[in-house]
Amino acid sequence: MTYGFHQSIAGKLGVTGAVVKAERLGTTALQIFVKSPRSWKARKLKPAEAERFRDELSISGIAETAIHSSYLVNLGAEGDLWEKSVFSLADDLQKAALLGIDYVVVHPGSGDPQKIKEGALRAAELSPSGARLLFENVAGGGNKVGSSFEELRELIVGTSFGVCFDTCHAFAAGYPLDTEPAKVIVELNDIIGPDKLCLIHFNDSQGARGSAIDRHANLGEGQIGQALSKLLQLEDLQDKAFIMETPKESDAYNLRTFREWAGFTHSS
Ligand SMILES: [Zn+2]
Ligand SMILES: [Zn+2]
Repeated sequence: MTYGFHQSIAGKLGVTGAVVKAERLGTTALQIFVKSPRSWKARKLKPAEAERFRDELSISGIAETAIHSSYLVNLGAEGDLWEKSVFSLADDLQKAALLGIDYVVVHPGSGDPQKIKEGALRAAELSPSGARLLFENVAGGGNKVGSSFEELRELIVGTSFGVCFDTCHAFAAGYPLDTEPAKVIVELNDIIGPDKLCLIHFNDSQGARGSAIDRHANLGEGQIGQALSKLLQLEDLQDKAFIMETPKESDAYNLRTFREWAGFTHSS
């Protein structure tokens, strides 16, 4: 099991700054954005910056890394927005290759699932990358695709894509992580296959079960509560990477709680 936080790349060290922050906390997994998540503008990544990142990563204790794609990406869109979404995702995949990052996480979007799959395949074709593309489950609402495990399976079947499982989103989509956490994971594994589950976004939820509200809470302080801790004991999840996307100001609290729940001492 590896674990850590989504870290910002703001500041003069750029992407390397995120590694430094993760290192300082003694975490072993890391997720970053490689551009502003609410803008279409791609951020330049100079070869020297990429090299510095890879060097720092190689001497760090960080074993698993992910890029989260832009929130504007909608692979289910039509026309120009679809094109922009494909190129934005291709840019993330290319940056992942340059940085030596393991995964690129994307929300499927809304619209036709076939179109979404086609968009992801197109992005992967434009940017051949060692990084694995992961579809993240979403909280649902509107005609968003990917709030159920069956929909995720449809998106990845017959491809090399994997899944990122967000606990807050699953709960908001109606999965009973508060009362039957183990059962939810059995269902997830049964439907998508254990080797397809690569990353877990480990967040509590401010919104109620089934509310479709995507608002993350500190571990144990949301509507899932202490039941969330049970996931860290499950055999099936021991080899996964856990990323917390919890409120930044509470990193110390969430890190302490995660380690307690996982039964880690400070250094493990
Ligand atoms: Zn996400
Ligand atoms: Zn997430």
